[in-house]
Amino acid sequence: MQMNEGEQYDVVIVGGGVSGTALFYLLRTYTNVGNIALFDKYGGFGQANSHPKNNSQTLHFGDIETNYTLEKARKVKAASDLVATYCDKYGDDGLFKIYPKMVLAVGQDEVDALKVRYEEFKELFPALHPIEKDEIAEIEPKVVEGRDPDVPLFALHSTEGYTVDYARLAADMMKRGQAARDSQADVFLNTCVDSTRKTGEGFELDTSRGKIRARVVVYATGAHSLTFAKELGYGDNLIILPVAGSFFHTPSVLNGKVYTLQLKKLPFAAAHGDPDLCRGDRSRFGPTAKVLPMLERGQWKTIPSFFKLFDLKLTSLMAIGTIMMDATYIKFIARNILYDLPFIGRFFFLPNIQKIVPTVKAMDVMPLKDAKGIRPQIVNRSTRQVSLGESRIVGDKIIFNITPSPGASTCLKNGEHDMRDIIRFFGSEFKIDNESFNADFPIRV
Ligand SMILES: Cc1cc2nc3c(=O)[nH]c(=O)nc-3n(C[C@H](O)[C@H](O)[C@H](O)COP(=O)(O)OP(=O)(O)OC[C@H]3O[C@@H](n4cnc5c(N)ncnc54)[C@H](O)[C@@H]3O)c2cc1C
Repeated sequence: MQMNEGEQYDVVIVGGGVSGTALFYLLRTYTNVGNIALFDKYGGFGQANSHPKNNSQTLHFGDIETNYTLEKARKVKAASDLVATYCDKYGDDGLFKIYPKMVLAVGQDEVDALKVRYEEFKELFPALHPIEKDEIAEIEPKVVEGRDPDVPLFALHSTEGYTVDYARLAADMMKRGQAARDSQADVFLNTCVDSTRKTGEGFELDTSRGKIRARVVVYATGAHSLTFAKELGYGDNLIILPVAGSFFHTPSVLNGKVYTLQLKKLPFAAAHGDPDLCRGDRSRFGPTAKVLPMLERGQWKTIPSFFKLFDLKLTSLMAIGTIMMDATYIKFIARNILYDLPFIGRFFFLPNIQKIVPTVKAMDVMPLKDAKGIRPQIVNRSTRQVSLGESRIVGDKIIFNITPSPGASTCLKNGEHDMRDIIRFFGSEFKIDNESFNADFPIRV
């Protein structure tokens, strides 16, 4: 698309992943905001963290993610319900699939812990059912086959495991957003936004195709959003701990998603296995969690951007140091470095797979070389803690979305928050069609 140098938009969205496209869809479908532009530096939608090779493809509800508290699960479920509703309404077989899913407890301690958890969570998740070894064997025979019969097994199972290709979701939301009404909606792919400057009446953005102006800007650029925020004086207290994730393929051994019990302190911990949406003949296990000093995996030029977030402040180094030296993290991080070693990494990772499918052998395991995801974990340098909650910075007519997992599951809810903030920024000039929004996204039980 041709860009008119200096053109002014009401809203500019930077980032065409699942977050930016969800906002585009919502603004176009449920508001009368005038002209909107969306920029992405790649040639398609959802090519970074939202690409199915780079994430776990799970629509997280908090039922089988045992590191979620009940409160977090309630929030994530409400957000994911919007994506489930969208998928049910518009999604085809390529966009999402419904598989059975379970969280598996292995050994008496885990079984006891999962039973306690079930009592707490069963009201929120009525579709979740406790199952014992025999039923596990019926649903996922390979989980039981070849396992020591003396080891207790227990699982919580649901038939409602949504597996989503978030890049397709992003493309679908763009298509529907563009078709929703006639007003101007410009999409600039292969266009990098380099910097933003506050002007009297809004913002001026420097892009690889020239300058444009915006009354409101939303950054949905993952970890880069914090770079843009700092450029404009926001998020001073925050830095990013980038946690890359890799996956391993095996021949197809699972019918659905099998999660294992997570470590409470780690937001990105235990491995799981499931059928791979991109390769129907394979099961995929992972992700690993390796800290890398870059904002986008494989993009070496984002290493300086990572260090730039530190603002040359000792408190930044101390915050990262404090987190990495924590006993839980240090062991976890060390193990995860081993998993990514060429050729022998699979041997180190094998016990994680065998916990789920005991009969898998090292030679069945193939590392997926082209996974390029990074979870931008937000660190508060005052408290020196990884933030497990809010990942948006809302400024004066500008919003920055930094989206660690489960950012894809919450894309429409984050988009809804952005949409409501944007309408507030404009005062009475534009409005939301709440009636249509509520009719299209009713509360799910
Ligand atoms: C290993 C792993 C597993 C995960 N598993 C899950 C899961 O199962 N379920 C789940 O819900 N979430 C999961 N996540 C998290 C999820 O993938 C992300 O939260 C989500 O994809 C974020 O979407 P986004 O649109 O915010 O970011 P992205 O998809 O990263 O999109 C950002 C976009 O911004 C563009 N961009 C960046 N800088 C610029 C610039 N300067 N100019 C123009 N464009 C720019 C990029 O090209 C990109 O398209 C996982 C993440 C990882 C790494």
